[in-house]
Order: sequence, then C-alpha cells, then structure tokens
Amino acid sequence: MQTVDIRSLLKDHSLFKEEAFINGNWIQSKNTFLVNNPATDEMIANVANLGTQDAELAITAAEKALPAWRSKLAKERAQIMRKWFDLILENTQDLAKLMTLEQGKPLAEAAGEVVYGTSFVEWFAEEAKRVEGSILGITWSDKRLMVVKQPIDVCVTITPWNFPIAMITRKIAPALTAGCTIVIQPAELTPLSALALAELAKRAGIPDGVINIVTADANQSIAIGKTLCASPTVRHLSFTGSTEVGRILMEQCTPTVKKLALELGGHAPFIVFEDADIDAAVSGAMESKFRNSGQTCVCANRFYVHKKVQDVFVEKFAKALSVIKVGDGIQTGITQGPLIETAALKKVKKHVADALGKGATLVSGGKRTVECKNFYEPTILANVNSEMLITYEETFGPGAPIIPVESDEEVIKLANNSQFGLASYFLSRDIGRVWKVAEALEYGMVGVNTGLISNEVAPFGGIKQAGLGRDGSVYGMDE
Ligand code: ADP
Repeated sequence: MQTVDIRSLLKDHSLFKEEAFINGNWIQSKNTFLVNNPATDEMIANVANLGTQDAELAITAAEKALPAWRSKLAKERAQIMRKWFDLILENTQDLAKLMTLEQGKPLAEAAGEVVYGTSFVEWFAEEAKRVEGSILGITWSDKRLMVVKQPIDVCVTITPWNFPIAMITRKIAPALTAGCTIVIQPAELTPLSALALAELAKRAGIPDGVINIVTADANQSIAIGKTLCASPTVRHLSFTGSTEVGRILMEQCTPTVKKLALELGGHAPFIVFEDADIDAAVSGAMESKFRNSGQTCVCANRFYVHKKVQDVFVEKFAKALSVIKVGDGIQTGITQGPLIETAALKKVKKHVADALGKGATLVSGGKRTVECKNFYEPTILANVNSEMLITYEETFGPGAPIIPVESDEEVIKLANNSQFGLASYFLSRDIGRVWKVAEALEYGMVGVNTGLISNEVAPFGGIKQAGLGRDGSVYGMDE
C-alpha cells in the first residue's frame, strides 16, 4: 500500500520503522494503519496498529526494566542519555526528512525541531546528576528530617502530531534521567519520528523495556489510552493535546489517582502597545504565528494592536508575509508547509469566513493555495472584534486577526478573557508597563518583546484550562 519509498530518501535506511517497540523488540502486528504525507496525500507507511493487550505488555516491560534502571547511578544514566543525544544530532537530516514527510513542516524547520528536541535530552542528562534532597532540622534538637527525591517509576506519555520529536523528548528526558521507565503512545498521524527515536535509543544503550512505543490508529489510541490510564502500575501520565481529551484522560486516571502533567489548549494574545518597537513586533508576530503553519499551542491567536500604531503594524506585517513560500516542505526554499489534514484546513476556512461575514477586513491571504488540498495562505484580517470565532476558538492555522485597542485596562481584560491560560506575548518599551502587564496577564508563560518563549531551561505549561504541571526546566524534573 506504501506508495513512496521512504528508505531511499534516508542516509540510514534503518531509521524507517513500521513496527512498534516493546521491551527492546520491534513488534509487528497483523493489523496496521496508514500514515499519510499531508503535503502530497501519498501513503508513506503502514504501521503496526496495536491493541490493549500489547499496551499491557508494554507496561509489564517498563515495570520489569525499572529496578535495574532506577538503581543505576544518575551519572551512568546521564552517560547513556548523552550518547542518545549525540546519535539524535548525528542523524538530524534523516530525522528531519521523516518528520517533514509525515507532518509537513519544512525541512529546515524540522531540523530545527530535532535540535530543539535534543536540547531536552542534553539538559536533563546534565541535570540528573544534580537532583538533590534536603536535611531539615527545625523541630527537634536531636533529630533531623531527610527529604530524598525518588523516581516516580513507570510513566506514560501521550503526545500530539505538531512536534513529533520535541513533545516526546521534552516529556521523557526528565523521567528517564530520574530513573523512571516509559510507555509512549505517539500521535497516529506522526509515529515514524517516534520510532526512529526509539531505534537511536536502542543504539545508545538505553536498556530494553526502559522506553516502549505503542503505535495505534485513532480508535485503538482511545482503547489503549483507557488501558494505560487504568493501570495501577503506571504512576504518572503526561499528555499534550486538546483540553477535551485532557479532561477525558484526567477522568480515566482518577480511580488510580495518577500524578498528571497536562499541556492542553492555548489561545495566545499578542499585544502591541503604542510604544512598541514595530519591527520587533512584526518579527515576533511572524515567529509566533506562522511557525509550523500556525499549528502550535503557543501560536499567537489574537493580535491586540493599539489604534495609534495599527496601520503601520498591519502594513509591515503584510509586507513581511511576502517572504513566506508555501508548498511541500521537502522541497528547497519552502517556508510554510501544509496543514496536517483536511479537517484542520476546514477549521481555518470557517474562522476566516466567519470573521469576514461579521465585518473583518481581509488584508492578506484568505484562501487555500492551489497546489494541494491542505495548503492555506498566510492570512491577516483587520478590524476584528470579540464576536468573531477566531478570537475565542483555537484556529491552529495561519490566520492572524488584528483587533484594535486603546487602553491598557481594556486590552488586559480582553487578553485575559479566555479559559486557555497557556502563552501570551506583548511588546512595549515602557519598563513600568512591562512589569504591570506581565503580572496582570493570566497565562502560564508571558513573552515580553519576543515571539519565541520555549527552550529547555524555561518551565513550559499553562494555567486555567490550559493544563497542569510544567515541562522542561528544573520544574520539569520534579514533575
Ligand atoms: P489533536 O487535535 O492535536 O490531535 P487531541 O487532543 O485530539 O489533539 O489528540 C492528541 C493525541 O491524543 C492524539 O495523538 C490522539 O491519538 C491521542 N488521543 C486522542 N483521544 C484520546 C483518548 N481518548 N485516549 C488516549 N489518547 C487519545
């Protein structure tokens, strides 16, 4: 059924895997599911579609591997993780190709994700050696209390398709270095990157059973998700995805009282105050809005721009879009790939049509590009207001709605009017305003004078219905 020979595109053919990975073995299944290239609509792989019994086997493998892995010295685990980091980087180009083919993001952006994704492996490998407890001595003169940090044991992670490598490494690197073992359920749309990571983990010497990957299509993922949540052996579940699915998983984890890390929906405001550096605002807007075709949970969703600078911001922003080249990301020079699937494109179309129907002005883009059904032009809409869907539903696509504003109080109120407290951004050169607004925004992350906020050192996560817990950073290790 496979119509593109992916192996021929890779330097290292064995990074292309269609089997699942349990207890260090590549597991075939009589049931399989197809993986599609969103840029060409070609089938690129036929991957093992596991069932709940396989998920049980993966949990058992993780449980069996636990004693030996957690009893290693942190330094020994760190050395193995470091080897994995080196191998991932050595294979950046092959990993980027696999990612572009299954996810659609342009090759250079995919290579950037590999580097970003490995930064978590390197950082947590270093951090493993610095996990410290404490001695407390305030209650009795002849006794001391000792706090020792221990691995939480078997962990599960369910990851989305928008960052097929980084969402996995960001979650599993701290767990592995702490001495936990893992079952990963990667997104059904992008299993190939995850499987290539497992192949490299095996080569790095990560012992059998420490990392297990259960691949499954959308229906089986739901069934497997139930098994993973219900298992008393699994102590922690980390999920990135929609708030709806996060709620389901949370409920399913209640009977076993699992510790949870949930990174859910976002609807980021991006505020341009009248004293902002407009060029910096435009480059921040480009980074934040159009990366990954607008398919990130921290993408700017609503641009609140002060009326005094609205015209100049919109003019420069529209001009900046001319550098974006939409197309199949495997080709040279492409800077924006397709949307992941037709349903995603339909949502963008719906949001744009709704805004235009309610009086917004089309500044740029506003339609599909002709090459393939999943491509949509980078789009700017002006004169948007809070009645329009695009200002409160997550678009997950390349649409930038501009909402004119005047006072700080008004914009803070509008910006905070969302259940999704994940990322927010604003630009200002007034130090008093910077402190005031940064503290007033009800978001887990606030980017000031930048459109990029995520790296391995900074805690990543939201408040309100955007989730629980933090990925990355020292806080990610505790998580
Ligand atoms: P997205 O819109 O990014 O696909 P979802 O929250 O729908 O976000 O899904 C994120 C990931 O979670 C997907 O890869 C999917 O396979 C998985 N998933 C969806 N629903 C469930 C479920 N009920 N149980 C377990 N996994 C699920």
